[in-house]
Amino acid sequence: MPKNNFHRFRIDDVAIRYSNFAPRLFNFCLSLGMKANDIMPSRAFCSDENQGYPIILLAKHFGTFPFNHGRVGGIVATDRHGPHSDHGKDMVIIQASHVGYNPESDEFGVYHRPQTEHHSMSSDCGAICGVLHWYQEEYDFTCQQISLDRDDGKAVIIIDNQLLNQDREEGMFLNMQKMVSDLNTVRSYSTAKSFIASEELVKRIGSEWPDKKTPINKFLFAELFYFKRNVDDTLASGILNHNLINTMPEIISSDSPALTAAQVNTQVEFDRTFRSIVKEKSYRGKKIIFISGLHIDISPKENQLFPLTKFVPWAAYIQNEKGEGYTLEQKELFTALNDQSTDNPHKIDLTEAIHQMENEPEVLLHVDDHD
Ligand SMILES: [Zn+2]
Repeated sequence: MPKNNFHRFRIDDVAIRYSNFAPRLFNFCLSLGMKANDIMPSRAFCSDENQGYPIILLAKHFGTFPFNHGRVGGIVATDRHGPHSDHGKDMVIIQASHVGYNPESDEFGVYHRPQTEHHSMSSDCGAICGVLHWYQEEYDFTCQQISLDRDDGKAVIIIDNQLLNQDREEGMFLNMQKMVSDLNTVRSYSTAKSFIASEELVKRIGSEWPDKKTPINKFLFAELFYFKRNVDDTLASGILNHNLINTMPEIISSDSPALTAAQVNTQVEFDRTFRSIVKEKSYRGKKIIFISGLHIDISPKENQLFPLTKFVPWAAYIQNEKGEGYTLEQKELFTALNDQSTDNPHKIDLTEAIHQMENEPEVLLHVDDHD
């Protein structure tokens, strides 16, 4: 499995306020030869209520409510390409994982929910945080099962026997070759064994290596472990697990696990969905733009109805009628969007459109009675 490149995923300097992103994306579509009233946008967003504001802005700028390609966690329902392709001449799919942001504390992964009884903050994206929970608990538990110590002046690591059992089907596993210098035990205890620590680890921890037995905690670095977990790949939570598990040590060890997980999920979903679009026969004869990114849901203040969502573009795939396509990497995509105007003469006034529908005479339904 190639190492994930989430470190290349830039955030703050490429984030676009959603009210600017939606018209820029629309104008980008026009610049590629799409026609204003022929485009059927689709979104693959999580089911959270805070994903509604981006959908409203897309409806306003594309002049139609977007098709729904989304499963919980921002997973793309790739089996919906066929129905989507039937609903428009040209196609746009916007995929986004999301993460909350509290501007007062600069904290990612939380979101203010004004509809809760105590107007409290809760995790965001809840689906991704729900997946992270199991791994975080395994990690926290394992931090207590491994200790650093000294034995006869040498740096040793004491590891619980359960962790040394490689036959487990699920759980956290250690990369022993990075952790210890050899697999011969220094001492065996009733429930644990000690080993000489690897030179690399001793060097990395340096003068902070303790003089007496101490849980490893913050020194359990991402490269020292990995996870195994049995999940049902047909469920959205199973796909989320599948998307994140190989990068989970870095996610858990990062400053903002909810943000890092959302970044990784976006990257994996872009890669997976782009391949499904290339193969999709129903998209032939059409122009299609598939764009992936991150929604940063900036927590609303008490007087705000919606989050001040930002879109962080990650990558795009653009394919013509003949099925020939190319990808835009993050910087190229950001530049392409940024070059577009935020003016959109084709945008609709949603309030007026709703008034107009309210003022239309009611259509009565005629249902045939069958004996
Ligand atoms: Zn969510």
